[in-house]
Amino acid sequence: METLEAMQEEVNAAGANVRALKAEGASPEAIAAAIDALKKTKLTLESELATLKEAGNAEAKAKEEFRSKLSGVLEGRLFYIPSFKIYGGVAGLYDYGPPGCAVKANVQAFWRQHFVLEESMLEVECPAVTPEPVLRASGHVEKFTDLMVNDVQTKECYRADHLLEEKIEELLRDPMLKADRRRELEDLQARIDELKVEEMSVALKDTNTKAPVTNNDLSEPYPFNLMFPTQIGPSGAVKGFLRPETAQGIFVNFRDLLYFNGGKLPFAAAQIGQSFRNEIAPRAGLLRVREFTQAEIEHFVHPDHKEHPRFAEVANIQLNLFSQEAQLAAVKKPFLMTVGDAVSKGIIANETLGYFIARCHLFLMAIGIDSARLRFRQHLKHEMAHYAADCWDAEIQCSYGWIECVGLADRSAFDLNAHSEKSKVDLVAYERFDTPIQEEVLVMTPNKQILGKAFKKDAKPITEALQALGEAEAFALQEACAANSSAALKTDAGEFQVSADMFKVEKVTKTLNGRNYTPSVIEPSFGIGRIMYCMFEHAFYIRPDDEQKTVLKLTPVVAPIKTTIFPLVNDDKLNDIANQMNKTLTSNGISAKLDTTAVSIGKRYARTDELGVPFAVTVDHRSTTDGTVTVRERDSCDQVRVPMTEVAELLGRLCKMTATWAEATASYEKQATADD
Ligand code: AMP
Repeated sequence: METLEAMQEEVNAAGANVRALKAEGASPEAIAAAIDALKKTKLTLESELATLKEAGNAEAKAKEEFRSKLSGVLEGRLFYIPSFKIYGGVAGLYDYGPPGCAVKANVQAFWRQHFVLEESMLEVECPAVTPEPVLRASGHVEKFTDLMVNDVQTKECYRADHLLEEKIEELLRDPMLKADRRRELEDLQARIDELKVEEMSVALKDTNTKAPVTNNDLSEPYPFNLMFPTQIGPSGAVKGFLRPETAQGIFVNFRDLLYFNGGKLPFAAAQIGQSFRNEIAPRAGLLRVREFTQAEIEHFVHPDHKEHPRFAEVANIQLNLFSQEAQLAAVKKPFLMTVGDAVSKGIIANETLGYFIARCHLFLMAIGIDSARLRFRQHLKHEMAHYAADCWDAEIQCSYGWIECVGLADRSAFDLNAHSEKSKVDLVAYERFDTPIQEEVLVMTPNKQILGKAFKKDAKPITEALQALGEAEAFALQEACAANSSAALKTDAGEFQVSADMFKVEKVTKTLNGRNYTPSVIEPSFGIGRIMYCMFEHAFYIRPDDEQKTVLKLTPVVAPIKTTIFPLVNDDKLNDIANQMNKTLTSNGISAKLDTTAVSIGKRYARTDELGVPFAVTVDHRSTTDGTVTVRERDSCDQVRVPMTEVAELLGRLCKMTATWAEATASYEKQATADD
């Protein structure tokens, strides 16, 4: 684009030169030479554009082909299936079929192992149906919206930001675009996520954005709340929503979880469960759906002590970081840096956030995400909520571009404060001071007897309101009562006139051994489906020797089945041994699938390669004489002969990834491959 801009400027300059020469009445030769120069610069620009267009088209076509082959395997092999397919399906809803379920269960089990078990987190499971006040307190009722527009003729719904983004990209492709306008559009593009309704309306008009396909006019943009509303119970009196994230269930349980943890901080709670978002335009398969599994962690920590006791264990891990600064630089490029350096240089706000970014990196590596296609992108200032201290997204590159798969945010005390305020339950932790301190504190003592007599059932909210007053308000009320014999007090039950004898307010010096404080929360939030889809893309390849042989190189940790077992030919003796192997392996916790179909061994290998099965055990005639079988590794197609008594132990090590194939099989006899 930089060279394009430079070329465009050359064309503009050459054009200006022609005009200037004409205006000053220059010689026809001079004008002809200038026109010639202008034509040449135009031709160079046009040929560069044609090359770029061709390259772009070829890339788009290659991506399209790749996706169609991959989805052919994933949908054909029932990794996932459009939900309610026989009724025509519903956009944004997918079922997982048998291998998909197995992979998902493995990803979740590994997530539990990697985070919940290895970090001693407290796991909870909360309902998806959530009463309205909870989601009102969290801000979702008011703010969990996307801006929507309609095609004024067909009423089709679109996400305003998507249409605007596409339109801006189209406008930016115009080589004749003036430099000022280009900058203006690029600036608008960078701010799309933060546009308010009115700004979006202006931007859509300014760019002349129309409805896709029909090219009809669009309605004014308006906010659409992404939550699915429901009612709890038959009367309809209790409003609720399907939760849009699992996190709130953890926040509302904070007090009990803290108690369960012996009152000690820091601690983390975790939850894996379904979340629901009524996306306006679900697209890109599993990447943007209306019901999806989230795995979320809420790590509660003292706001002034965000160091992490295990930080040293991850400090040397290299991360691909796309910091705010790198995104705003002229050449926008992520860079490699250890998490230790990133925290000490202040690029990542604190150790705990850095620790989770590094742990997230390790998790994604272990399940087979390609490190070259993973980056951690810091939110720009305008993307971050006002309360957030720092936010990073783990973005994975796939054929749809860079996709946010995990959000990692230091949300400070926002969530606990919000729920404390609305629920009137203190969600705080207690810290004991090393040495007690003397402090003047406000003591408000409502006179319950007088209040009870005067206000009967309203005495309680009045007492609560008095106790909730801050220092300035309490003394102001006392003064007002002294001056006017009574004064107004606002409570949850309305406004009441209270008098001086109904409460006493004073400041006393107290020895404080500790204090209550609201912890900060650091939240890593994983979208399991998005991660799985990217993992499938990174795992998919076609064997160079045969177009038809497609492989999913899923790591043993997540593979749906760890090994297949084949008798080489259909023979009772071989079948018996294969059955025996199957029993031994499954009883050792290695999921195995017996395949006795009468097709060639090469075809059977190809079939399991497509399912991502990493190993295959083949029973042949030699097995009946020397008690050995062959074990094959999917990606290299290497085979070794292994005594049957050692297969479970060997596969156990390979599946736990405690040894590589080369290490684990070094002592075994190599065997020629039987793939064809
Ligand atoms: P968020 O709360 O929006 O930061 O989302 C947390 C994570 O949930 C994201 O990083 C995604 O992996 C996942 N996610 C969010 N929305 C969707 C969706 N519509 N479909 C699939 N996954 C989603």
